[in-house]
Amino acid sequence: MPGCEACGAQPATAVTVRAHQGMVIIMRTVTRRGVLCRTCGLAVYRQMTSDTLLTGWWGLFSFFVTPFVVLGNAFGARAALHRLPEPYGAVRPPLHPGRRVLRRAPAMLILTPIALVALAIPTLVVVGLFSGGGEGSVALSAGDCVRNEADWPEQQLRKVGCGSPLAEYRVLEEASCGPRDYLLRAEYTIGAPGRPGSCVTPL
Ligand SMILES: [Zn+2]
Repeated sequence: MPGCEACGAQPATAVTVRAHQGMVIIMRTVTRRGVLCRTCGLAVYRQMTSDTLLTGWWGLFSFFVTPFVVLGNAFGARAALHRLPEPYGAVRPPLHPGRRVLRRAPAMLILTPIALVALAIPTLVVVGLFSGGGEGSVALSAGDCVRNEADWPEQQLRKVGCGSPLAEYRVLEEASCGPRDYLLRAEYTIGAPGRPGSCVTPL
């Protein structure tokens, strides 16, 4: 059985590792094939995959090629190397494997924004659910009574009971605005059940 091409240790296996570079229009994939022990093979795999995570994305086609190169390395070469036992009998110093791909700067630079986006989407959904129906977003119907917590023409309307001493205005039927009435802002008339009033009249 042939030993590792880099250090001469046993056991070694044939692996193929790729690195991809995107350069806006052109792109380049470097393929390295060799018989390597686990230590040397992981060193090559980690370096080339990490380089790809940094330089692979910068092109229209490259953007789509890069994930395949990274996953191909991980499930191909890396998986095969991990199946090998610890090497022995090196006649030259083995290559230095260094840190795992995920613990290097390129992976962190790429994965941190992805993780933030993945976390932000459910957070926004939850915030949206709990803030829905808050002040200022309430839809009004004709006949509702409201109080304006701002000064006209600002509108910060709160729906209150018509018998309440807080009630200041009543929402009118559509197209029945008088000279003393105020036109409602659109956000108060969207999605209201029934026919929304478009004006409020002082009580
Ligand atoms: Zn080796």
